[in-house]
Amino acid sequence: MKEKGFTTQLVHAERLQSPEHGAIHQATNQSVLFHYQNAQDLVDVFQGKSQAYAYARQSTPSTNSIQNILASLEQAHDALVFATGMAALTTTMLTLLKARDHVLISRYVFGNTNSFAETLTQLGIELDFIDVTDIDDVRGKVKSNTRIVFTETIANPVTQVADITEISKICNEFNLLFIVDNTMTPSYLFNAKAHGAHLIITSLTKYFGGHGNALGGAVIDTGLFDWCLFPNIYPAYQSAQVKNWGLTQIKKKGLRDIGASISSESIHHLSVGSETLALRMDRSCSNAMKLAEFLEQHPKVKKVYYPGLESHPQHLLAKNMFKYFGAIMSFDLSEALEPLDFINKLNVMLCSTHLGDNRSLVIPVAPTIYHEMGLERRQSMGISETMIRLSVGIEDIDDLISDLSQALG
Ligand SMILES: *Cc1c(COP(=O)(O)O)cnc(C)c1O
Repeated sequence: MKEKGFTTQLVHAERLQSPEHGAIHQATNQSVLFHYQNAQDLVDVFQGKSQAYAYARQSTPSTNSIQNILASLEQAHDALVFATGMAALTTTMLTLLKARDHVLISRYVFGNTNSFAETLTQLGIELDFIDVTDIDDVRGKVKSNTRIVFTETIANPVTQVADITEISKICNEFNLLFIVDNTMTPSYLFNAKAHGAHLIITSLTKYFGGHGNALGGAVIDTGLFDWCLFPNIYPAYQSAQVKNWGLTQIKKKGLRDIGASISSESIHHLSVGSETLALRMDRSCSNAMKLAEFLEQHPKVKKVYYPGLESHPQHLLAKNMFKYFGAIMSFDLSEALEPLDFINKLNVMLCSTHLGDNRSLVIPVAPTIYHEMGLERRQSMGISETMIRLSVGIEDIDDLISDLSQALG
């Protein structure tokens, strides 16, 4: 049978996992514990011989359902969900790394990931920042103890685009695990597996859920990595099939140690939100393209950073990799305008942290989300002190343009 389209798959995905009574949504499961008539059945769960449930910190019928949907959207082997995107990222890294391992991480990762990178170095993990737009820089920084290469697809706020395909070739050459955070370009825009990602990390809080009403995160194993090549899998998890080693360790050890489990209610909100992922992305990316063009020609705007613009240094790369150019951009105003005054004049766009929402959101970058990082590090990421980030929502384009117009005055 022909593979169904993206939205057709999504809107039927819960129903096709046969919830009871013909329900179209999975029941919101509230049980923490699961009991067994036959004690051997529980023993089998603990020993990985059965996939049934034991305790809700590690899995429930709800986590199972959304994991199946995520794996299928990414044409991946398997997925695991967490309370937040940060939980997915930190649990994965802490579970797979040991002191004295070396990690290469994009110089342009967003603030919280940058903060976590500092935590890793405190724990004795060596770390180098790489320029993911410069493949020679990546290759030059690989060492004998390098285990993981980590990048986002489109960086936030300056929108540098990583050359995912070329980085994946280096990872395969040196047997490194390649982790891609695709939050900015969810599966509707970007096929991370086709470009060689081994693990995909994603914040479900952003575009996947889309409505600003639930937090969530996931790690997805595309099945492309040979876990035999990874030296940090504990013997206990090597009894599983090799292709399951990574996620088994992250689930059994990582979720147990860290306990960043997602609630069934959040999963319900995220799943319902995801039904319109493609429709929302069509709209917000189309809005973003128009707003970027509008801002770029405006005399009171000095510079616009958006991969859809031909002036963007990785425009062609982005065009080849992504269905659209995403819905995040940043811009610098001309000196005539003070960024906070400008933001205070906006009526439709909201001044708020967060991105990937149905509503358009703006934030002054340097004094807020990148404040703690300090001037030097901001400059190394290309962040100007007056930069404004805009996460474009699904409002009507005329309203967004007139909002910007009047605020630019
Ligand atoms: C927001 C974000 C995260 C973290 O997700 P939360 O769900 O907010 O914890 C990770 N990566 C990127 C690129 C993000 O934008």
